[in-house]
Amino acid sequence: MPISTTNPATGETLQTFEALGAEEIEERLERARAAFEEYRTTGFAERAELLHRAADLLEKERDDIARTLTTEMGKPLTAARAEAAKCVKAMRWYAEHAGELLADEHPSPADVEDSGGSTAYVRYRPLGPVLAVMPWNFPLWQVIRFAAPALMAGNTGLLKHASNVPRTALYLEDLFRRAGYPRGCFQTLLIGSGAVEGVLRDDRVAAATLTGSEPAGRSVAAVAGDEIKKTVLELGGSDPYLVLPSADVAKAAEVAVTARTQNNGQSCIAAKRFIVHREVYEEFTRLFVDGMKALKVGDPMDESTQVGPLASERGRADLEELVEDARERGATVLCGGRRPAAHPAGWFYEPTVLADVTPGMRVHREETFGPVATLYRAADLDEAIEVANDTPFGLSSNVWTRDREEQDRCVRDLRAGGVYFNGMTASHPAMPFGGTKRSGYGRELSGHGIREFCNVTTVWHG
Ligand code: NAP
Repeated sequence: MPISTTNPATGETLQTFEALGAEEIEERLERARAAFEEYRTTGFAERAELLHRAADLLEKERDDIARTLTTEMGKPLTAARAEAAKCVKAMRWYAEHAGELLADEHPSPADVEDSGGSTAYVRYRPLGPVLAVMPWNFPLWQVIRFAAPALMAGNTGLLKHASNVPRTALYLEDLFRRAGYPRGCFQTLLIGSGAVEGVLRDDRVAAATLTGSEPAGRSVAAVAGDEIKKTVLELGGSDPYLVLPSADVAKAAEVAVTARTQNNGQSCIAAKRFIVHREVYEEFTRLFVDGMKALKVGDPMDESTQVGPLASERGRADLEELVEDARERGATVLCGGRRPAAHPAGWFYEPTVLADVTPGMRVHREETFGPVATLYRAADLDEAIEVANDTPFGLSSNVWTRDREEQDRCVRDLRAGGVYFNGMTASHPAMPFGGTKRSGYGRELSGHGIREFCNVTTVWHG
């Protein structure tokens, strides 16, 4: 895949970039190592000052970088601005909380005595340069979600961003540089995916985090495993959205539209499979389909647009194949299921709802990365949970019910990294984010996220 900026709303390539050569990669790796040796000795206050300064800059430049995001990957401009604002919030959160999240931990005096020591404590020390392989769907947020905690922990960062968002990737390097971070603390490597293995095998790289597809995760984790390096994987999702009889069905249907189509349907934590109790199925379906049909699809730079194009031609083709497969195997297309006639250029696809979905269809097991929802009718909660868990993924889940017992059942039985009631899944800096099964392992955000790339060191005095 060439490294280029191509506008998904028009299909026009605006700029192409040369990938770094071996010498340039070597230079940057050496810079990351040298920067780490200096930066790791800084304290939380100094690191927080730098991160706050980067947040200030991003806040000021929000509108400009939002236009870059929309130009490179097609998300509505309003959503791009919100993404930048969310990054600022997370940066400030980690700047303010890292010190307490990584404070020394002290075992009980009785346990210290039992160990034969006079004092003992646990210190969270940084690991070194961490390679971050990142996707295009939230081109700022995915990176900041890694970088803010990693930098506050004292690590340095090497970003291999997706090949279709190079302007955003370069902006991020520049942002940290202008904030005053020592040279080499955060660098962008403009490289293709084929060059990742060499970087990851380099002794100067301590660990890796990857957000992206299952094949990419498998490949990076295999190399890291071979090198005995720690990894965090944030992979795909096919989150269930359960609607049960005690729910506010109108609200559930309204939120379902946003949950499915946010970011033009290209979000790992988007609700993708809508599993509705038979008692409220007809009502929910009618409201949900009406809501999907009412969405404004169009130019993502237009302030009133709700759904823009898919980020790539390949992405749209993949989605079309999934819908065609379902249609051929008997699914009913309640709305959409085609390209919008009003937008012949660019990679648009109509918000789509598929009913009568069965396990033999690809959409049942694969991730639909675009505005396509699948609907299931469940006889009771048991069946709803069974369908919800019948997926290789386990990122998050959403349940609409006001019944306490049903809520407890869901917390116990849904196999996912999150269970969200009466609302849609959304990440927050204070709450861990990540999945189980094929959705990956490890956590980002919160104290769990910042501790992923730390050397948890036992200090003991005899
Ligand atoms: P992708 O193809 O896996 O790309 C993600 C990143 O991995 C890009 O930087 C890509 O580089 C790189 N890459 C691809 N193949 C690689 C390989 N074999 N070795 C090393 N690096 C490789 O993913 P995508 O299709 O762009 O993104 C969508 C996927 O990401 C979806 O499955 C989505 O659910 C998932 N996602 C997960 C989360 C989460 O938090 N769990 C968040 C967002 C997205 P190139 O661009 O150069 O190919």
